[in-house]
Amino acid sequence: MKVIVAYARCEGHGMCEERAGDIFRLDDAGDLHYAYDGEEVPAAREADAKAAAGVCPVAALKIVP
Ligand code: SF4
Repeated sequence: MKVIVAYARCEGHGMCEERAGDIFRLDDAGDLHYAYDGEEVPAAREADAKAAAGVCPVAALKIVP
């Protein structure tokens, strides 16, 4: 599973970070950093990545099986 991050859509609401702060992190400038950008999400982290994607209010995080 991968998460495709639409960085241009992200409005920095931070819900993803609240849900899974070690996967999604906003820096001091409000830019989103995704730990597994371009990579498969490790199996043990899939549930957290999916949950974080599900709370994004602007649907910037897309799950790709
Ligand atoms: S929840 Fe969505 S809009 Fe908010 S920081 Fe995460 S990706 Fe960006």
